[in-house]
Amino acid sequence: DSLLPSRAGLVVGRFGQHADVEDEQGTVYRCHIRRNVEGVVCGDQVLFRPGKDQTLNVSGVLEALQERKSVLTRPDYYDGIKPVAANIDQIIVVSAVLPSLSLNIIDRYLVAAEDVQIEPVILLNKVDMLSAEQRSEIEQQLKLYADIGYRLCFVSCKSGEGIEELAALLKDKTSVFVGQSGVGKSSLVNKLLPEAEEAIGDVSDNSGLGQHTTTAAKLLRFPGGGNLIDSPGVREFSLWHLPDERLIWGFREFRDFLGGCKFRDCKHGDDPGCLLRDAAQQGKISQARFDSYHKILSGMDEQRPSYSKPP
Ligand code: GDP
Repeated sequence: DSLLPSRAGLVVGRFGQHADVEDEQGTVYRCHIRRNVEGVVCGDQVLFRPGKDQTLNVSGVLEALQERKSVLTRPDYYDGIKPVAANIDQIIVVSAVLPSLSLNIIDRYLVAAEDVQIEPVILLNKVDMLSAEQRSEIEQQLKLYADIGYRLCFVSCKSGEGIEELAALLKDKTSVFVGQSGVGKSSLVNKLLPEAEEAIGDVSDNSGLGQHTTTAAKLLRFPGGGNLIDSPGVREFSLWHLPDERLIWGFREFRDFLGGCKFRDCKHGDDPGCLLRDAAQQGKISQARFDSYHKILSGMDEQRPSYSKPP
C-alpha cells in the first residue's frame, strides 16, 4: 500500500481532479479525489490518506467530505447548483466609488449572502478618492446598513486607510471578497497578503496535468490568523435567480413585516393591506431598500449567469 493511514485535513487548493489538503501539522499533500466524493472545494474539512512517497506530484487520496457549516454556491448550466467554497464565516462585499457606487448592487450581494446564511460585511474601497464632503455624504447613505446590523468598513488600498481595521475583522475567520470587477479585490488581496501575489488563478502546472488555471481556487492564510478563500468563481458569487420569497428574506429588516399582509400572496406592490409598504411609508424600513427590492424583483432573470451556459 502506497498510502499512510487516514487523517483529517483542510482543502487549501482545488483544481481539476486534484486537491491540496493540509493536515494539522500544516503539511500540504496533493491528492487525487476519490470518484465518489463530489464537489470538493476550498475550505472543506476532509478525511484523506497522504501518500508515502512525497516525491510524487500527486500522492495522496481524498476519501471523504465532512459536514459543512456553510457553502457558497453558484448555478451551473450543466450541474445545477455547484459549490465554490466551504465553511466561510463572512462575505466581504467590496464596492467602490469608482467604477460607480450602487446601493442596489450592494443589496444584491447582501441578499445572496443572506440566502447562503453567511454574514456579509460592506466594504467601501478607494476612499482616498473622496473629498471630505463626498465622504460624509456616502457615510450618511451607508448608515442605513449599520442601522440594520451590517458591519461597514471604509478602506483605501492606495493610502492604507482602514487596512488595519480590515485585518482585525478578518482575523481568525474564513472570508471571501466578492464584488464587481474593478472595485479593488485583487488590490485588497495584495495589500493584505503581499507574498500571495499571483496565487490566484496561477496554480503552477509543473505536474503536467493540464490544470485549468481559471478554475483554480486557493485558501490563503493571513499572517495573524484567519483565512481568505479566493478564486475567480468565488469573486463572481452574486445573486442569481432566487424564488421571490427567498429574495425578500434576503432583506433582513423586512422579515418582521412579512406574513401579515391582507393577501397571502401579497407582492408588496400596489396590493391593499400590505404591511411592508406601510412600514416603508411610516419609515420603519427604508424606502430606498423597499424600492431596491422591487428593482431586483423586476429584473431577476437578468441575474442568470451567462458564462456557464454552453456556447
Ligand atoms: P478587482 O477587479 O476588483 O480585482 O480590482 P483591482 O484590484 O484590479 O483594482 C481595479 C483598479 O482600481 C486598479 O487600477 C487599482 O489600482 C485601483 N484601486 C484599487 N484600490 C484602490 C484604492 O484604494 N484607491 C484608488 N485610488 N485606486 C484603487
